[in-house]
Amino acid sequence: MKQTVDILGIPFYNVSQNAFVDELFQLAIDEKRRFVVTANPEIVMHAQQDFEFNQIILQADYIVADGIGIVKAAKNIGKPLNGRVTGYDTMLGLLQKANEKKMRIYFIGAKPNVIEKLVEKVQKTYSDIEIVGARDGYFSASESKRIADDIAESKADFVFLALGFPRQEKWIAAHLQDFDKGIFIGVGGSFDVLSGETKRAPKILVKCNLEWLYRILSQPSRWRRALAIPQFMFAMNRQRKQG
Ligand code: UDP
Repeated sequence: MKQTVDILGIPFYNVSQNAFVDELFQLAIDEKRRFVVTANPEIVMHAQQDFEFNQIILQADYIVADGIGIVKAAKNIGKPLNGRVTGYDTMLGLLQKANEKKMRIYFIGAKPNVIEKLVEKVQKTYSDIEIVGARDGYFSASESKRIADDIAESKADFVFLALGFPRQEKWIAAHLQDFDKGIFIGVGGSFDVLSGETKRAPKILVKCNLEWLYRILSQPSRWRRALAIPQFMFAMNRQRKQG
């Protein structure tokens, strides 16, 4: 039984970043199929308002805490989590290990110029990885089935989807049954960061738990999305009071 911590009805897997990478990697070696959600407070709040999305993420094999807000909330209710487990660091950890074993990776998401740069960067940094597919994330619903068929044929060990939430999770849930194996994980804006298109917050800000603030300041159009953070804190306070 996986040990989880319930945050507003979402069961977060209690695991460290490194242990999680090791676990997913072993599952890939064993040719298993898994669906991973990396969730921050914004995703938790969205799940509260969108029943369909809520049901989708509850189908995932793993939901991990990609946000300091989740880690703090768990601590506040007396059920501490092991720390943040981010989509970005999970992807980097898996790429590193996949390189050692020459495994098969499929990338799907981000803008066409970003995915191009990402492929170049991955080929350069992880030269033993086999990139079995890479395409941008701007496709129509009618293309979805063809993409799923291509992934199934590619026999990818890892499929990273950077379509933003809730699109990436909805896509995985809709097609998961089509695949015999593969670790499917939604990684949000990670392709933009790994390709160098956008910068990740400076380490010092991450250390001070201010990565969220950096993201708002560097992309002011996100401010509306950041409103989810106080809403999340408010909802957690209520959960705590209700015991
Ligand atoms: N994106 C995409 N297809 C879309 C909409 C967005 O591939 O139809 C990509 C976008 O280019 C970006 C990522 O999804 O690379 C979303 O990044 P964001 O930082 O918004 O991730 P989130 O916080 O939503 O997980």
